Amino acid sequence: ATPTALLVGTGRGAQLGILIKGPEVLESTRKVDTIVLDKTGTVTTGKMALLDVIPADGTPADEVLRLAGALENSSEHPIAQAIAKAAAGQFGALPAPESFGNVEGKGVQGIVDGRGVLVGRESLLADWSVRLPADLATAKASAEAAGRTAVVVSWDGEARGLLVVADAVKPTSAEAIRQFKSLGLVPVLLTGDNRTVAEQIAGEVGIEQVFAEVMPQDKVDVVRRLQDEGKVVAMVGDGVNDAAALAQADLGLAMGTGTDVAIEAADLTLVRGDLRSAADAIRLSRRTLGTIK
Ligand code: ADP
Ligand code: MG
Repeated sequence: ATPTALLVGTGRGAQLGILIKGPEVLESTRKVDTIVLDKTGTVTTGKMALLDVIPADGTPADEVLRLAGALENSSEHPIAQAIAKAAAGQFGALPAPESFGNVEGKGVQGIVDGRGVLVGRESLLADWSVRLPADLATAKASAEAAGRTAVVVSWDGEARGLLVVADAVKPTSAEAIRQFKSLGLVPVLLTGDNRTVAEQIAGEVGIEQVFAEVMPQDKVDVVRRLQDEGKVVAMVGDGVNDAAALAQADLGLAMGTGTDVAIEAADLTLVRGDLRSAADAIRLSRRTLGTIK
């Protein structure tokens, strides 16, 4: 391709809401055959809302939300913000935790009102040998079957309740995935969330291939594995936990609504956070390069 054609393509990209790091990026865009999509914040809005508080037998529901909210107040995760906001709305001021730790891809842990509190995936509780009683396990499974994420709250070594949160699919996601398919790309969903929720969201938007329960540091390995199979991989993400995978992909695309870390790691930014712009980018590169080659 001539430099002039590539520059024209880059300028056209800006008009379409696509920021391209350098003209050479269009070359790799054209060869892509697989598009890996992060779930939270990419396919979905990432704006979680608290839908339900389900206490264990004998535990007050208020206490589940209050202690969890106090811890989540220190985390920037979309789930954490939904829980902290609901708790602050109900109780006003929340106690400041005596200690706080973030466990990437799993949840948060700390001490609130002298109690050792965990909020997060079941695997976070398992790390502390805390088991989920049958009633909570049943409630969790039915929330997940409905496409919701159920976070477990525990204190003093016992599971005390569930907080059910949900995140809506972006109205543009299904259309974007239809466009990827018509361009001959295979869409793949990649998420740290559990398999049931991941399959539910994938079904809603028309994705058949799903990698779920992938820890943040392992997302890059999924991209590498696809490349080892001979795929030319585009990755779209928004989070700090997507940065390594964005850098590893043949083409990294960041949501303009996402974190700076993701944007820096990517080759291309979708300014409006609209997945359809990724299809525009691929069409643009094929057109730009197709006319000259
Ligand atoms: P994604 O890959 O969809 O962006 P993450 O890797 O950030 O998701 O998180 C994976 C899972 O870990 C979440 O679905 C949730 O169950 C749990 N989790 C992570 N952070 C938190 C938190 N601060 N509070 C509660 N649960 C959390
Ligand atoms: Mg994300």
